[in-house]
Amino acid sequence: MRIGAHMSIAGGISKSVDRAVLHNCEALQIFTKNASQWHAAPLAPDEVRAFRLGVEKAELTPVVSHASYLINLATAVPKLRAQSINTFIDELDRADSLGLLGVVIHPGTCTSGTEDEGLHRIAQAIRQALQKRPNLNTMVLLEHTAGQGRTLGYKFEHLATILKELNGSPKIGICLDTCHLLAAGYDIASASGYKKTFSSFKKLIGIDRLRIFHGNDSKKPCGSRVDRHQHIGDGFLGLEPFKRFLTDQDFSHLAMVIETEKTKNWERGKISNPDPLDVRNLNTLKSLRDT
Ligand SMILES: [Zn+2]
Ligand SMILES: [Zn+2]
Repeated sequence: MRIGAHMSIAGGISKSVDRAVLHNCEALQIFTKNASQWHAAPLAPDEVRAFRLGVEKAELTPVVSHASYLINLATAVPKLRAQSINTFIDELDRADSLGLLGVVIHPGTCTSGTEDEGLHRIAQAIRQALQKRPNLNTMVLLEHTAGQGRTLGYKFEHLATILKELNGSPKIGICLDTCHLLAAGYDIASASGYKKTFSSFKKLIGIDRLRIFHGNDSKKPCGSRVDRHQHIGDGFLGLEPFKRFLTDQDFSHLAMVIETEKTKNWERGKISNPDPLDVRNLNTLKSLRDT
């Protein structure tokens, strides 16, 4: 399995590639804009070119983006729904122009009605976005969630329902997050729980839908439904489950990117020395994979 990280785009989108190279990443995740704002200026053509060249030279694969946290495809509020779909389409456009594999997105938060109604609204929103952009190469990567609050997508059944409503569209892939799995109640910390989790995943969704893993340990225990990432090995997962993922033949064609906490204000955006926390987490994963 390939190992990488979420990297900042501070200073320009192509700077994320420089950071990935500095940290010896094999895969990369980025935000293609400020994740806490609805709108962003279009990507500058020279930045897009520099980014694409850099990715190719560094052989980063895959590269994905993570959509803004403001987007809620499950909302029933018309204005928020329109804004969410428009911003989601913009995320897809940006990812497509950068040549990314896909846009990782949390399915949505159910602010009114039943979970089934929320799942239906999510599927319809994705359908609308894909209908407006029929020629995309980039995929929609639905992320399984920890189930905090009223977020949807914490059960494999939720993801299966959305996929079914979209007639199994080949433009939809799945992102699994090791922290979210545990928090949502899938006991991947134990060997038997890991086996059970993936036999369920195979039955409901299928390994061929999986496109990427987020590798994060969890600050909260199994079934807590709280989304708090911890450094690899320091949380309720520990090292053993990461070894299982990284050496599992079913996943050897995939990548795992970390979304663990960075060192605060590390070099204030300069790109000269790697962040010690990222180095530690990446080296931990690599040593589990390679030894
Ligand atoms: Zn994640
Ligand atoms: Zn998370």
